[in-house]
Amino acid sequence: GTINVHDLQQVELIGHGNGGEVYKALYVPSRTLMAVKVIQLDVDIEVQKTILAELDILCKCNSEAIIGFYGAYFIENRISICTEYMDGGSLDQYGRIPEEILCRMAVRIVQGLLYMWSLKILHRDIKPSNILVNTRGDVKLCDFGVSTQLVKSIAMTFVGTNVYMSPERIKAENYGAPSEIWSLGVTLFELATGKFPFKEILMAENPGTVMNVIIEGNTPVLPQDVFSPELSDFVARCPTH
Ligand code: ADP
Ligand code: MG
Repeated sequence: GTINVHDLQQVELIGHGNGGEVYKALYVPSRTLMAVKVIQLDVDIEVQKTILAELDILCKCNSEAIIGFYGAYFIENRISICTEYMDGGSLDQYGRIPEEILCRMAVRIVQGLLYMWSLKILHRDIKPSNILVNTRGDVKLCDFGVSTQLVKSIAMTFVGTNVYMSPERIKAENYGAPSEIWSLGVTLFELATGKFPFKEILMAENPGTVMNVIIEGNTPVLPQDVFSPELSDFVARCPTH
């Protein structure tokens, strides 16, 4: 992408996650609102070039279910990643989502994943905060781990526990589409009930030390008396074991 930094006007801070801040910004020439994610990364110029080159594949991703990518650049030791702004924010902000709405969202999420998988791209971080909505009714996935170098560089700088990780990923066996479906199942359970399924992990002082709860074969199961058999069955089929 080609974004001229000087044409970007910062509007407000919209959120922060593990390692970065996200700003709403106006791209003046095209009067486009953007979400600009800024992450401090202390990496050399060669690594910066690799990250920007790897992110470039996002220019080729064109799907109603994937957040639009406008470009990325480094200023000194900070990367800025410019994407489509979604005025409804992310699904972690909504608490419990009614089943009829959630099921429609799930269809879009699966469409987005199938599209990216067809391009051999895995998401690597499926969770409610990486699913965005807008007032046009669109549902879109963001924060695909398309740059191996960026994922690596962030991991070297910031420590965090991904509680949506599949058992096989926790055990560092293999990572692929089945692991993404695990994360989708945990995500749908959380959005349907308003509760994260492995609460002992969230309650732990150090979540990383209790991830065995997931490895031990506990899987999220929706109560069939509250949810349709279709949704319960979908969530029940997400785990690979
Ligand atoms: P996380 O995904 O872990 O919450 P991020 O740094 O990726 O951390 O994002 C922080 C927050 O910024 C998200 O939770 C979401 O609410 C908001 N956000 C991210 N991207 C966009 C976007 N394109 N449009 C609107 N809001 C966004
Ligand atoms: Mg995110």
